[in-house]
Amino acid sequence: KKNPLPKPKWMKESIPGGSKYTKIKNKLRELKLHTVCEEARCPNLGECWSGGETGTATATIMILGDTCTRGCRFCNVKTSRTPPPPDPNEPTNVAEAIASWGLDYVVITSVDRDDLSDQGSGHFAETVQKLKTLKPDMLIEALVPDFRGDPGCVEKVSKSGLNVFAHNIETVEELQIAVRDHRANFKQSIEVLKMAKDYAPAGTLTKTSIMLGCGETPDQVVRTMEKVRAAGVDVMTFGQYMRPSKRHMPVSEYVTPEAFDNYRILGMDMGFRYVASGPMVRSSYKAGEFYIKSMIE
Ligand code: SF4
Ligand code: SF4
Repeated sequence: KKNPLPKPKWMKESIPGGSKYTKIKNKLRELKLHTVCEEARCPNLGECWSGGETGTATATIMILGDTCTRGCRFCNVKTSRTPPPPDPNEPTNVAEAIASWGLDYVVITSVDRDDLSDQGSGHFAETVQKLKTLKPDMLIEALVPDFRGDPGCVEKVSKSGLNVFAHNIETVEELQIAVRDHRANFKQSIEVLKMAKDYAPAGTLTKTSIMLGCGETPDQVVRTMEKVRAAGVDVMTFGQYMRPSKRHMPVSEYVTPEAFDNYRILGMDMGFRYVASGPMVRSSYKAGEFYIKSMIE
């Protein structure tokens, strides 16, 4: 068996800081919110929470529990065929907590809930609606599962009042089976993104992300970008895959910062509204800051 690839020097973590970061962090203690940023020990926490040049603080919140009905080969989330039922009060509680937290842009995401008749879409829509009522100027991104391609689920979430509908295709078209759970696939995910664009009010952005370093070729990345753009998707992000543990799929390659930058330039030429691309980028990386900047330009 081959030894894992050594980590190159550019895979460095940033040190959290800034007054806005400290304020958000202190407030978080009082609320019972679980952020992906903290729980995944995301290296971008300092940058996202401080809001960067536009002062638009971003954080990612998880709803619908911590146990997924799927098992993707890159993901560290707990899995079960029968996770506990969702808390009916969660949309209200989460909306109230987020509204009082001092964030500007929130990414609301979840595990996949194939066990629920509505795939969890009702819970998403309710959380967004409640939060928009409490804090109308809050920018909301829902990063959702594929809902098994169910149009009713996609419609409900698309029309909930969100600003950005995000669903990740995770990898290039050719590697879907090798990387994602067998219930996920490229065609279905592209359909979900297309439907969201059709159902959502004008001005709503759609967004997707892929991880690089899973064994894809640059040609496959470019062809995937073209298909994503052809589906009307507004925003695309690229990050380096990092193996959460030895049980997970190995890293095939550490893609260089220059190669990431080239995908960003190419993506902008293709007409994406913005592209975030870099070794440490996650799909929610500085999402608020990029959103504001892309609206000004
Ligand atoms: Fe949180 Fe996403 Fe930013 Fe990481 S990249 S700190 S998970 S918002
Ligand atoms: Fe992880 Fe999402 Fe796959 Fe579930 S569906 S295993 S949460 S990546």
